[in-house]
Amino acid sequence: MTNKNDALLAFVQWVSLTDFGKPFEHEVKFNRRLKSTGGRFFPKDLYLDFNEKMYDVFSEDVFRKIVQHELVHYHLYREGRGYKHADREFKVLLSQVGGLRFAPPLPDVQYLTYTCLSCGQTYRRRRRLDVKKYRCGKCRGKLYSL
Ligand SMILES: [Zn+2]
Ligand SMILES: [Zn+2]
Repeated sequence: MTNKNDALLAFVQWVSLTDFGKPFEHEVKFNRRLKSTGGRFFPKDLYLDFNEKMYDVFSEDVFRKIVQHELVHYHLYREGRGYKHADREFKVLLSQVGGLRFAPPLPDVQYLTYTCLSCGQTYRRRRRLDVKKYRCGKCRGKLYSL
């Protein structure tokens, strides 16, 4: 079975060769806890992690631009050049490869809220509930969508 982290590593290696003409020779991993951050570069061990939700949600084109951003850090750092966001070399290489400065926000998952007006219990559901059929789980009261 193919591990998702292996697929990520293969993708990062491919972006590195295709867009930078240089190999990526270290580790990558998904991180489920990242929120608005697309990925991170750890200079100490040249390790990268990436936002797993963004990989799941965004198109390959967009995720590729997130990978490019981290690879700009990676390759500049390995070459002893300015690898930080404020460095001129970082800005120049990032715009050359077309990487993103900031990852786009993840789409908000839409929840519908239902409230029982008898006991005040609220319920959050991703899908619409038939309030004629479903009643409050606590008191069997009628649910209202807000
Ligand atoms: Zn960065
Ligand atoms: Zn109730």
